[in-house]
Amino acid sequence: LSVAAFPEKDDEGNLKQIIVTFHDISDRIRLEKMKSEFISTVNHELRTPLTSIAGSLSLIVNEVFGKIPPQIEQLVSVAHRNSLRLTHIINDLLDMDKLAAGKVSFDMREHAVVPILKRAIEDNRNYQRERQIDLVFIDRPELTHIRLRCDEQRLMQVLSNLLSNAIKFSPDRGQVQIDCQFSEERTDQVKITVTDQGTGIPIEFHKRIFQKFSQVDSSDVRQRGGTGLGLAISRELIERMGGSIGFTSVVGQGSCFYIVFPIANTSP
Ligand code: ADP
Repeated sequence: LSVAAFPEKDDEGNLKQIIVTFHDISDRIRLEKMKSEFISTVNHELRTPLTSIAGSLSLIVNEVFGKIPPQIEQLVSVAHRNSLRLTHIINDLLDMDKLAAGKVSFDMREHAVVPILKRAIEDNRNYQRERQIDLVFIDRPELTHIRLRCDEQRLMQVLSNLLSNAIKFSPDRGQVQIDCQFSEERTDQVKITVTDQGTGIPIEFHKRIFQKFSQVDSSDVRQRGGTGLGLAISRELIERMGGSIGFTSVVGQGSCFYIVFPIANTSP
């Protein structure tokens, strides 16, 4: 039951009457619950067979059981890539649903920042090679001992998403740079940046970019694929871990997405 009270005052400001409304929202709650259960059942039912399809295709593509003719290799590669893409979409939908329901738990521990950055790069290695992107990691010795208190998998998921977006919206053979420095404002924070020389983001889209299912409305963006969920999930994950996320962008020149995260240790 949802109850709301609306006081009404006369011209002198004296309380005249209070209107109290009662709404039976049990149907709405039941519907919400059904929707959430439906999403999670469908997603699990889809994910299990897809995982085995992607796994089998990956064994064939990587020629674990012997060499395959180039034409077949090409076809299987396309199927493999698409199975991974579908898995990605399903994982995003599941994550969004779990975040909305408050069902995501974070395994917060201290982790060195540099290996996390390197692993996020490795996650995108195939995509980077495919698009012939020059992926540059700025190695800074002063960061070697820096640790962040975070859920390692979740932070990598966000960085990997920022990197794959940067690659996706870059021109072929463009450059993507990942860097991490002490924040300019505060010495107890780091700022991780992913910078591309891609399409950039139109100013009218800046306010909506972190909303669910939002994508720049252009045939170019639709052609590049995606769900419009990645950044919404990323923001939620980063904020729940105590950091913040933002970006700057100039159309036609590129974008720079950044994460500001508190440092866990002040000495090595
Ligand atoms: P997806 O990439 O799956 O569409 P995201 O939430 O990650 O979903 O991104 C939402 C939208 O923001 C993208 O569709 C694109 O329009 C825009 N966008 C995100 N990152 C970039 C980038 N680096 N350069 C240009 N546009 C971007």
